[in-house]
Amino acid sequence: MFNEKMYALGSKRSIIREIFEYCKARAAEIGADKVFDFSIGNPSVPAPKEIGDAISELVKNESPVLLHGYTSAQGDLGTREAVADDINTRFGAGVSANNIYMTCGAAASLTISLRALLNPDEECIVFAPFFTEYRVFIENAQGKVVVSTPMPKTFQIDIKDFEGKITEKTKAVIMNSPNNPSGVVYNEETIKAVCEVLRKKEKEYAHPIYLIADEPYRELVFDEIKVPYLMNYYDDTIVCYSYSKALSLPGERIGYIAVSPKAQDSVSIYLAICGAGRSLGYVCAPSLFQQVIKRCIGAKVDINIYKENRDILYGALTEYGYECVAPDGAFYLFVKALEDDAYKFFEKAKKKEILVVPCDDFGVSGYVRIAYCVDKQRIVNALPAFKALAEEYKNN
Ligand code: PLP
Repeated sequence: MFNEKMYALGSKRSIIREIFEYCKARAAEIGADKVFDFSIGNPSVPAPKEIGDAISELVKNESPVLLHGYTSAQGDLGTREAVADDINTRFGAGVSANNIYMTCGAAASLTISLRALLNPDEECIVFAPFFTEYRVFIENAQGKVVVSTPMPKTFQIDIKDFEGKITEKTKAVIMNSPNNPSGVVYNEETIKAVCEVLRKKEKEYAHPIYLIADEPYRELVFDEIKVPYLMNYYDDTIVCYSYSKALSLPGERIGYIAVSPKAQDSVSIYLAICGAGRSLGYVCAPSLFQQVIKRCIGAKVDINIYKENRDILYGALTEYGYECVAPDGAFYLFVKALEDDAYKFFEKAKKKEILVVPCDDFGVSGYVRIAYCVDKQRIVNALPAFKALAEEYKNN
């Protein structure tokens, strides 16, 4: 008999994918311009020009082995050096190529890190709202998910709640900022308080508790907001990074893990990461894209396009009476549903061809996520439907 748990995962899509698939089918029925699909976090801003140029240059001039051959399991040395230099230049974190492990995006960075850190039944704390796949990744590493409830309205971390959730079995904490689905960036005060609690609990339980920084949205922040670099606040940090959103390359599957050189057992953790990558079958990240990243470190997408979308959507929705969490980054707007049950709200929005994601699976009920990484015109065209929806609730 096959594995029942895997069957269950495969036969039920994530709610995001479910709605995304519905949107595609609906678009084929009534036309894509009539479906206001805000379901999935697929970057709408083009990858920087440097990426295309680097691909052309590489394909023209480089050897097949460099382009398409295996690299070292942990990644090409030159690429890891370039990544380490970038981290040091920007954040002064003192990492070397030996702290960097190239991966197939943040999902692989997370599954590998969790597999490397967790023993069966050890606990991993996630801050609600959280990316739905964390549960899948943690449970697949035989760990237990523990959810910390956020502060109401701001959706910053509730430090008291967090401290109360740490037990002797806590091995890791995942922090995702800018956050999917809330768009919130955890401020420096919050980060310092989290790290203080972690240091206290490490002492109390006499074992390390690792902070996993899930950072695919680090570069997508607006209005000069700063995203603190967690290695500089807490030694036992592992950064799970991805170029999926930062360079609009989600289908290319490229990212990395950076283990803080100051972490307890840093060298052993890195080796456990190599072991987890091996056991999960990630022998090396895509070679061509490792070369592209090496040549394009520092390239940027035009985030003003997302900022404009955010401003239009946030401005209009708050004017129509929706309660929205002020989004500082990523490309999601977190909106309070106009009734307690976000699924019922979702169904009513769907009747107006607006497709948003109810956030119960993200650990917060009564909210929906709007992914505004779409063409601006889609947002503009959807506004009358959002307005009509709000009016429908007011009139009932
Ligand atoms: N973590 C968060 C918070 C995400 O939103 C996503 C993707 O949407 C991932 C991880 C996975 O990213 P990747 O596509 O790089 O695997």
